[in-house]
Amino acid sequence: MPKVLIIGAGGVGTVVTHKVAKVPQVFTDIMLASRTKPKCDGIARVIGADRIKTAQVDAFDVWQLVKLFRSFKPEIVINVALPYQDLTIMDACLETGVNYLDTANYEPPEVARFEYKWQWAYHDRFKNAGLTAILGCGFDPGVTGVFTAYASKHHFDEIHYLDIVDCNAGDHGKPFATNFNPEINIREVTQRGKYWEKGAWIETDPHEVHKPLNYPNIGPRESYLIYHEELESLVKHYPTLRRARFWMTFGQEYLTHLRVIQNIGMASINPILYEGKQIVPIQFLKAVLPNPGELGEHYSGETSIGCRIKGMKNYKEKTYYIYNNCKHQDAYQETGTQGVSYTTGVPAMIGAMMFVTGKWKKAGVFNVEEFDPDPFMEQLKVHGLPWHELHDVDLEV
Ligand code: NDP
Repeated sequence: MPKVLIIGAGGVGTVVTHKVAKVPQVFTDIMLASRTKPKCDGIARVIGADRIKTAQVDAFDVWQLVKLFRSFKPEIVINVALPYQDLTIMDACLETGVNYLDTANYEPPEVARFEYKWQWAYHDRFKNAGLTAILGCGFDPGVTGVFTAYASKHHFDEIHYLDIVDCNAGDHGKPFATNFNPEINIREVTQRGKYWEKGAWIETDPHEVHKPLNYPNIGPRESYLIYHEELESLVKHYPTLRRARFWMTFGQEYLTHLRVIQNIGMASINPILYEGKQIVPIQFLKAVLPNPGELGEHYSGETSIGCRIKGMKNYKEKTYYIYNNCKHQDAYQETGTQGVSYTTGVPAMIGAMMFVTGKWKKAGVFNVEEFDPDPFMEQLKVHGLPWHELHDVDLEV
């Protein structure tokens, strides 16, 4: 009977736990484990404590994880802690014969780089152990890869141009807050821009390239070219791509705060000595910023994330736009969190469901676009993330 272990009790972990608990016919036993057990207990209490077991674990410590896995015996671990812990959790999975799923690729804490190489290097070990690892199964990365696979399977003979567009047109009422873990988020959006064109990566200054794009039900929003991790796997798995880019919307107020944070050194990941103690400025900043998991109550507006694709079908050029819009208040009413945690947690639950129901089961380490997109796409509609398609439209990119 499928047992699932969720690691990480932040905004995303809250959504995953709510969603997993809603499908008892798929997941019979649920455990939520994290660094701070009272947070797990709080989430379990809201859902109904008898349904969810909780535990304390330091996910940097392989042997603590191994002990926990051996006692609970999960079939799959959903890792929604931080990307820094991906490898130790994968090591513990190999040690104990447990399958793996995450939503963000491994990052070494001391260098802000977004690359799959560390996790792809585990492929043979997972393959030889007969275990599955599903990488990047949130919304972006995650649904964006599934959307691309779905487009490629059903609507194109070849895809040539891919633009992933991520708009958060929500208002949380705070002067500055990030929508997921502040440290990971600020590392991501302050790095240099990068996109794929004609077989090579092209770098830009941070936020150098931008333009207004129209989002369904939202209208025009200034959208900034940034690097995002799914570009690496999609370019590898769709070699016909001539160009692949990622755009994210930012408001002026957000960018101004970000610039100040950087200028005064608070975005730095290099440890400094403060009153005789080593601290990392960005980690201190996280401690004083609003908790992303608690922004939901006053969050209005919606997100819109999708893929704009150009390619060939039956020797003719074709354009296609597939997207989901998610209202922050709908997410809050259902799970007590905001839309960004929701759009990440729902796909993570569905990915684990794909695995335990045998639809996404193969030995090795895989990105989501390497599986059949159809059963996943069906479940998105069932579990709160309906998607829409537009054919032969102006993609604006
Ligand atoms: P939070 O910071 O809110 O939550 C992270 C959780 O992990 C916290 O409960 C934290 O514990 C726990 N944790 C941190 N370190 C450890 C450790 N060493 N051992 C055990 N638990 C630990 O982050 P979010 O919920 O916002 O994000 C979770 C993940 O989702 C991140 O990896 C993020 O990058 C990813 N993400 C992916 C997206 C996608 O679309 N693919 C979009 C958004 C997020 P504590 O409570 O003690 O701090």
